[in-house]
Amino acid sequence: MHIVIVDPSRVVLRIVTGLLEPRGHTVHTFTDSGEALTFITDRPEVRVLITSLQVRPLTGLELCWSARLLAEDRRPLYVITMSSARSSRNLAEALDSGADDFIDKPPGAEELNARLRAAERLTTLQENLIRLAETDPLSGILNRRAFFAQAATDADRAGNHGRLSMVLADIDHFKRINDEHGHDVGDLAIQAVAKLMTTEGRAGRLGGEEFAVLLPDAGLEDAEAVGRRLCLRARDLRIRGSRGPISLTCSFGVSTWTEGDSVDALMKRADIALYEAKTGGRNRVVSAATDLILARTA
Ligand code: GH3
Ligand code: MG
Ligand code: MG
Repeated sequence: MHIVIVDPSRVVLRIVTGLLEPRGHTVHTFTDSGEALTFITDRPEVRVLITSLQVRPLTGLELCWSARLLAEDRRPLYVITMSSARSSRNLAEALDSGADDFIDKPPGAEELNARLRAAERLTTLQENLIRLAETDPLSGILNRRAFFAQAATDADRAGNHGRLSMVLADIDHFKRINDEHGHDVGDLAIQAVAKLMTTEGRAGRLGGEEFAVLLPDAGLEDAEAVGRRLCLRARDLRIRGSRGPISLTCSFGVSTWTEGDSVDALMKRADIALYEAKTGGRNRVVSAATDLILARTA
């Protein structure tokens, strides 16, 4: 596991590292709790934080709390506080601040590794639960909720001046596929289109036979090119039906992030463009005109 240790003393850091590295863990040590938090924020592979209570500039309890907020619902992270003064008050405060466990400083090798085995069990379970909660069971891609959470993260990152685009896709006349070939073949079509979407960016199934792809760092022209490519490749898909291969088409709506934008507005513009693609004859890509949408949302 990737483990971050925070303590003001390099000697303690060396001792704890010496207990962990021989067991195959990757250890990152910090004397500065602010730097540790930045590192944990940027490195999702970090599974365990072990921190002394006496650290700076954030106190151990503040670091616990910040790490807990960071981990909240989308990331497994096990937090252990470490103190040479084990009092029931310290223990209670640490647990109330979001710590999962508390160990003596310096910890004994056997106890530390037993506690890390517990951490590994728990974070693996948590990871599986998060994956289940975020995944659409039929297609294996992000479900609607997780897709919007990802979009919010990407939008934060884009800020006011960054780039971010969205491609919305909907299978054309999908009801006919279900009606003519059965629901199971319809499911295969959904799986095939979902898989295709993942080749271009972070893809989610928004519902039924509707999908979206997020394209961080892509402007409108890049996103249109992605839409056109997906449109052609969707047409070339062959779905295994009981009476031979079945083909399909999709319609696409494309939108891009503008100053002062929101994920909802970005999605709404893509949705209106998708609607135009449908009414314009399907099997095509329509790009959202931002001025048109500003008029619609005003
Ligand atoms: P359009 O070209 O305008 O998009 O028409 P459409 O037939 O694709 O769209 P419509 O919204 O009329 O039909 C969508 C259908 O998708 C209706 C619903 O029964 C079906 N559907 C929704 N979820 C699933 C699913 O998980 N599996 C299957 N096989 N069908 C589904
Ligand atoms: Mg459809
Ligand atoms: Mg639809």
